[in-house]
Amino acid sequence: MKDDILSKAAVLQRDGETYALMAGPIGGVLDIPTARRIAQTAKKYGAQTLKLTGAQRLALIGIKEEDIDAAYEDLGIKPVQGSELCRQYIKVCPGNTFCSRGQRDTITFAGKVAENFYPFPKIQAKVKIGIAGCFNSCVEPAIKDIGIIGLPKGWILMAGGAGGKDPTLGEVLARNLGDDEVLDILDKLLKYYRGASQRHQTRNMRLGVIMQKEGKDRLMRVCGLE
Ligand code: SF4
Repeated sequence: MKDDILSKAAVLQRDGETYALMAGPIGGVLDIPTARRIAQTAKKYGAQTLKLTGAQRLALIGIKEEDIDAAYEDLGIKPVQGSELCRQYIKVCPGNTFCSRGQRDTITFAGKVAENFYPFPKIQAKVKIGIAGCFNSCVEPAIKDIGIIGLPKGWILMAGGAGGKDPTLGEVLARNLGDDEVLDILDKLLKYYRGASQRHQTRNMRLGVIMQKEGKDRLMRVCGLE
């Protein structure tokens, strides 16, 4: 019986035969040539549908197993393990690139986060990051493992939020941060998350649960925020 092919970020569909492939850049912002290439690839390999996922990706639904590699090649992207089933993502609002309320350049900053850290290897739990360009929080940063909000004086960084069966609001770790300060803290924070998600007592747990068990103080210390 077939199953998801995680190394290729290919998700088995309900027909038990075909797969959904994940395409589309950070934030779901596509230029016309990229959109055209995705549509042409979908047509060439007989995808039945294109779907915008909750993680702002475009899923090509209905790709045959034998066409997966060729379809990714035509798309010009490498599959990222962890992007399937929304286990890992960076969800970002348009920020001041497109939105009149935006206080900071979320799209460029999300690109830096992706470039430095994505995919987040060996973290045995979900890693959901939300980056919003103002307090309107259109990408719900308060319920992400890591939430970032842009304001005129800098970024607010939150950690420990989650949706799902135990909805939790993230806690603020720091305010008024510059881009490099956030990246530096994220480096420490993600290493801590990776280590904790592999430790016996906190194996596979979400960041918010780990914070409850080990204490926000410990996380703050690890991140150099005391
Ligand atoms: S969070 Fe703010 S900047 Fe981002 S889309 Fe919503 S209103 Fe615009």
